[in-house]
Amino acid sequence: MKKDYVFYFIVGTQDLYGPEVLKTVAERAGEMAAELSSRLPYPLVFTGAASSDGEICAVMRRANADPLCAGIVTWCHTFSPGKMWLGGLADLRKPYCHLATQYNTAIPGDEIDMDFMNLNQAAHGDREHGFTAARLRIPRKIIAGHWKDAKVISRLGEWMRTAVGAAVSREMKVMRFGDNMRWVAVTEGDKIEAQIRLGWRVNTNAVGDLAAEMKAVTESEIDSLTEQYLSLYTLDTDDLAAVRYQAREEIAIKRMLDAEGCMAFSDTFQDLYGLEQLPGLAAQHLMYLGYGFAGEGDWKTAALTAVMKAMGSEGASGFMEDYTYHLVSGNEYSLGAHMLEVCPSLAADRPRIQTHPLSIGMNEKDPARLVFDGREGPAVVAALIDMGGRMRLIAQDIECVKPIMPMPKLPVARVMWRVLPDLQTGVECWITAGGSHHTVLSYDVSAGQLRDWARIMDIEFVHITPDTLPDRLDDELFLRDLAWKLR
Ligand code: MN
Repeated sequence: MKKDYVFYFIVGTQDLYGPEVLKTVAERAGEMAAELSSRLPYPLVFTGAASSDGEICAVMRRANADPLCAGIVTWCHTFSPGKMWLGGLADLRKPYCHLATQYNTAIPGDEIDMDFMNLNQAAHGDREHGFTAARLRIPRKIIAGHWKDAKVISRLGEWMRTAVGAAVSREMKVMRFGDNMRWVAVTEGDKIEAQIRLGWRVNTNAVGDLAAEMKAVTESEIDSLTEQYLSLYTLDTDDLAAVRYQAREEIAIKRMLDAEGCMAFSDTFQDLYGLEQLPGLAAQHLMYLGYGFAGEGDWKTAALTAVMKAMGSEGASGFMEDYTYHLVSGNEYSLGAHMLEVCPSLAADRPRIQTHPLSIGMNEKDPARLVFDGREGPAVVAALIDMGGRMRLIAQDIECVKPIMPMPKLPVARVMWRVLPDLQTGVECWITAGGSHHTVLSYDVSAGQLRDWARIMDIEFVHITPDTLPDRLDDELFLRDLAWKLR
């Protein structure tokens, strides 16, 4: 599913310096692209020293048209007049990072002269360059510092993954089996707005079509997927038929998704016509493979799961639901789970395959599912809601813990976390922002990446940090609401 994305490295200069300087700029930029590519998650392709309006427009148009170009990185080795960039930047449709760097590290005190100053003029050129984007009011990421600095490279790498999240988003197709869970509000939304802003094409397929596709799955296909299950997970049930049934569901769902090029799907326990079990293990293993999923017809969270999987270094993101609290004073936690479908990429240990009755919905048989504890560590939960006229992405920093007690009767995977600065404040902020019970929980996507992604996609972003206070957030959201309505 992962494509070989690249990023264009466009280095600005101008003709005034003469051919010698242009040659040096090109050589150095080529060297930087090569070295950085070996240390970044995606290659940086140097597209030549750009010294005129025409060259800059041409390379921007090439970036727009190249399906594998996930974004551009710009830098001005020398001074590069901003009016040369206005046309190209105004046309740019790919994510844009301004790397405000410099080839050399130290100022050579004994040797520095005006030739050196004219060649190494990034401090000057990058300010001119930055003004053009500010004036055009286009979204960009600005990363300043020496290009060999580990922190600069790590930030650039993180931004590249975010830009790939934007590319994946713009290609996103979501298959819905059945509609929304009846009467639920927060999982609803404007699919047209989502397609315009985020590129998501969301369509419904009949559950009966899935049932028919399942009939076409062969026993040997089920044998081979069941073997895969057993290589990844520990069998903890005697009901092998239920496990094989989930394999049948998974093969049929995957076939339908792949036929349509869908990277995410949703189902609902209220519409299982022709199915004996709600997809549990099936949905979990598909998420493990990188597909997005959310229950109860929640196409927004399903697509966001797939986007965040693409944005993370190891795909450790999954569909989550805030279920219940541990409200013991001074020791408060949130317990997240779902009725079945928690992604095994969140697991601390090898998941176990179990079968249990499902007390909600109309399952004829006990569905097989993976049961595990989530891992410890800092994480983020994110939710996408439709405010009417715009989408709002909400992110909150959390600290996942090893569940503080055994829960032997809980028949589903679970993740327990602490909210900072404390559960009460965090929950009040989340509810103030309108955040849903459904989220994507991620161990390897940062709130900063989500902010950049929201900026690229042109949607609202709310970050609930340990310093966010509900009253101030409420005031801020009121003002933002006015600002968004004016746009
Ligand atoms: Mn749910």
